This record gives sequence, structure tokens and C-alpha cells, in this order.
Amino acid sequence: MSDRLKGAKPEYDAVVIGSGLAGLTCANMLARDGHSVLLLEQHHQLGGLAAWFKRKGGHIFDVSLHGFPVGMIKTCRKYWSPEIADMIVQLKEIRFDNPQFSFTTTFDREDFTRILQEQFKIPLENIEGFFNTARDMNYYDDQSMTIRELFEKFFPGRDDVMRMLMEPITYANGSTLDDPAISYGIVFSNFMSKGVYTVQGGTDQFIGKMQDELINNGVDIRTKSPVEKIVIDDHKVSGVIVSGKKVKCRAVVSNGNLKSTVHKLVGDEHFSGSFIEEARKVRLNNSSCQVYIGIKKGERIDHIGDLLFTSVAEKFDSKELCSRNITSRTFSIYYPETRPGSDMYSIVSSTNANYEDWASLSEEQYRTSKAELIESTLDALNKYIPGVRGKIDYVEAATPKTFQRYTLHECGASFGTKFEGLKISMGLPAEIPGLFHTGSVGIIMSGWLGAANYGVITSNDVDKYLRS
Ligand SMILES: Cc1cc2nc3c(=O)[nH]c(=O)nc-3n(C[C@H](O)[C@H](O)[C@H](O)COP(=O)(O)OP(=O)(O)OC[C@H]3O[C@@H](n4cnc5c(N)ncnc54)[C@H](O)[C@@H]3O)c2cc1C
Repeated sequence: MSDRLKGAKPEYDAVVIGSGLAGLTCANMLARDGHSVLLLEQHHQLGGLAAWFKRKGGHIFDVSLHGFPVGMIKTCRKYWSPEIADMIVQLKEIRFDNPQFSFTTTFDREDFTRILQEQFKIPLENIEGFFNTARDMNYYDDQSMTIRELFEKFFPGRDDVMRMLMEPITYANGSTLDDPAISYGIVFSNFMSKGVYTVQGGTDQFIGKMQDELINNGVDIRTKSPVEKIVIDDHKVSGVIVSGKKVKCRAVVSNGNLKSTVHKLVGDEHFSGSFIEEARKVRLNNSSCQVYIGIKKGERIDHIGDLLFTSVAEKFDSKELCSRNITSRTFSIYYPETRPGSDMYSIVSSTNANYEDWASLSEEQYRTSKAELIESTLDALNKYIPGVRGKIDYVEAATPKTFQRYTLHECGASFGTKFEGLKISMGLPAEIPGLFHTGSVGIIMSGWLGAANYGVITSNDVDKYLRS
């Protein structure tokens, strides 16, 4: 065995491939259930897209810590530890600023109801009808209604209302107006219950505590260990190939991209023809671009809100949100309170993006486009922090290619697959006993909360299988 696997056992009950929030949570639950678990991560740090990185000048940047629903507290308390759950705090100032409206909100049902009544003059009956319909949606309902149809039903002709309700969710899970209404309803209602939450201490401390918990529970963790193949013998899982060697196991949970899991790690030849045909039709979700902006040590910035949904586009258009010609951005402002004891500020600008727009560029064009992305982002930020260029000492950009490189997600998908992926993900064990998937998929199982909860669901299925 290679050095990375030095001291590993020849056989485990379960191997988890990938340490995103779903893989981590699944591994933790399986270990707690008394199973021997090997967690293999190709990158040098755990967390997957729940990533952070350090740069000169004392900067720490969080990649996907912008906001998640309150349910994450319960998930962490129940499936991790009270200490991890206690790191979660509310973001109180969510700000919208675009040509159609401008306001600050706590981003919950009560405040949205007030704004929809007072600012948008919508009758309470329509608002209540919309909220109740979104809240009552579930996976087993009729899924033929699209998000566009849901808005038209309660707010006909009101593209300003649609923008207010849709734009933040498009950022949160990549959904578009043509996706099933359920993929919107579940995520939107989760946020509306009590607003937007974050981790005090940053992603580094959060994932660090999860790592400690995994070690305490006996999970064998190996980083820099890319899995090359999932081995199938006699139509069921028998192990994985890592660094050219086989590690035996009875169950494999892949937290890697669903399409790569099916077509590359396992291989089409092991599935029924009809399953592969459906799996091929699964569409990936979009990717992202980010600009990481470090404020010089000793420099201050005024409180301008925690999360800023900004746009100069006249109207909302989910295709436009992904275009390289960006008109909409979300700024996350990390004040020193984000990491108590630190006196540093940082800002991360996020935009949705299409992989193809970036992958098709020559090296020279890619470099220029990244530089343009940084410049246009700083121009946009200057409206909220006048003279921002004079306050910063570090700036860097990430594109869909960056996300692909660090997580191996095909096309750098930030939120897994579109809705149809969920059925394929959940259908793997019926095709190949011992094969499971967990992680961002189907829009509703994406984001920090969706991924962690899917990890729990999958761990229950794996536990049942291992005990059967
Ligand atoms: C820019 C951006 C901003 C976001 N903002 C938010 C936000 O504010 N709130 C929110 O809730 N969500 C946000 N998200 C989404 C959220 O981060 C993800 O949905 C979630 O973290 C995904 O978790 P996951 O379990 O699906 O796995 P991932 O994080 O995708 O991790 C998969 C892991 O598997 C590993 N892996 C893959 N293949 C192999 C292999 N063959 N061998 C070994 N390891 C492998 C990868 O290296 C990776 O570590 C954001 C995403 C992006 C990109």
C-alpha cells in the first residue's frame, strides 16, 4: 500500500469516498453506529466545497460560508455535537440592491410578509397562499409545476416580486424558473422559517471540529487519496482501488459527483441498460465564480450588511445570472466577529457561472477574463465601500475551472445535479447492492444543510444494508 494508506486495515465495513459535508456526516453516523469506516479524500484538506484557504497578509477566505437555514443547528446538534451546533449564529442584515428595489431584511417569513405588503402592495391573502404552498411541498407530490408557474399563480405579472423571492435562491442552489417548484419550495421555506445562519469561527474551525469528532468516533481518515475505481464482484460492491491497491469493504458511499460515480468510478457495464439511459440524461447544475478580497490589517470598513444581493440588471433573468458578462453579484462581508479574536475583514463576491464559458478560453483569454472579473467586482463594490481599492492588499479570483480542480466535480458543478439526479442517486443500491451515493444532488439535497441531511439519510440506508 502507498504511504497515504500506511497502517490502514485490509478491510472495512464501509468506505466513504469524499469529505464534503454529506460524506463527513455519513462517515460520522456510520462510525457512531459501530461500523468500521475508511474516509478517502483526494484533496489535502477535508470539507469539499466547505473550503477555506489562507493567503499572505493574514487573510483566511471562506469559499461557501455565505448562509444556510436554521435547520443546520439541529442537524449539527443531533448528528455531530452540541459544541459544533453552538458555533452557528444568525446573519441579521441581508440587503438587496437592484434597479427594481432596495432594502435590508432579516430574511424570514415575518419580514418578507411585511415588505411584500408595504413595499410591493401585495394582498395578504396571496402572500399567505404562496408561503403555505411552498412550505407544504414534498418530494412525493406532483412535480409538474415549475417555479415560474408557482410565481405566476400568486403574483401574476409581478417580475419585481419574483426577483425578490427568486434571486437569493438561485444563488443558494442554482435553480432556474424552469426547475420544478418543489426544488424552490423546500429550500425557500427552510430559509423563511428563521432567516440566514453562518458559522462563527469560520469554515476552518467548523471542519476542524468535525475532523476531531470523526477521529474520536474511530473513522480512519486519509487525505490526498483519490479513489480510482469502485470494485464490483458478483454484482455487488467488494471494495475500492486507491493508489493502485484494493481496499476491501462491504459498502461504498460516494460523495463525489453523481455522474462521475456512475460512469467513471463504477462503469456503465455494471448497471442495467435502462438505468444508464436515465443516468445519462441527468443534467449538472451550474458552477460559480468568486472574487476573494482581503482588507489590509489595521484598516476598517463600516457595517454595510452581512450579505448583499446586488445587481444592475433591469430585470431578473436566471440565464443572465450565469453569464460571463456579470450584472449580479452577492457580496459576503466577513467582519472581525466572524473569527472572534481576529481584527481582519474580508469580502467574497459570488456569481453563478457556466463551465463552458470559462473552459473554452485560451490560457491568455482566461487570464484576462479573470483580471476583468476582479476589476468589475471592485468597481461594483466601490458603490458600497467608497475607495475600496485603497483598503485592500489581496485579491484573487476563482472560476468553474477552479471548482472542478479542487473537488473533481464535472464542469465544476457547485450544487451537484438538477432535480432528476436525486432518483438516480437514491436508486444506486437497487442496481448494485452495497453501492450508495450522498452529496449535492437534485437541488434540494444541496447546500450545507441539504448535503449534511442527505449524509444522514444515506448512513441509515448503509447501516440497514450492513446489518442485513
Ligand atoms: C461558490 C460556492 C458558494 C456556495 N455557497 C453556499 C452557501 O452559502 N450556503 C450553502 O448552504 N451552500 C453553499 N454552496 C454549496 C455547498 O457548498 C455544497 O452544496 C456542499 O458543500 C456540498 O457538499 P457535498 O457533500 O455535496 O460534497 P462536496 O463539497 O462537493 O465534496 C465532495 C468531495 O469529494 C471529493 N472527491 C471527489 N471525487 C473523489 C475521489 N475519486 N476520491 C476521493 N475524493 C473524491 C472531493 O475532493 C470533495 O472533497 C456553495 C457552493 C459554491 C461552489
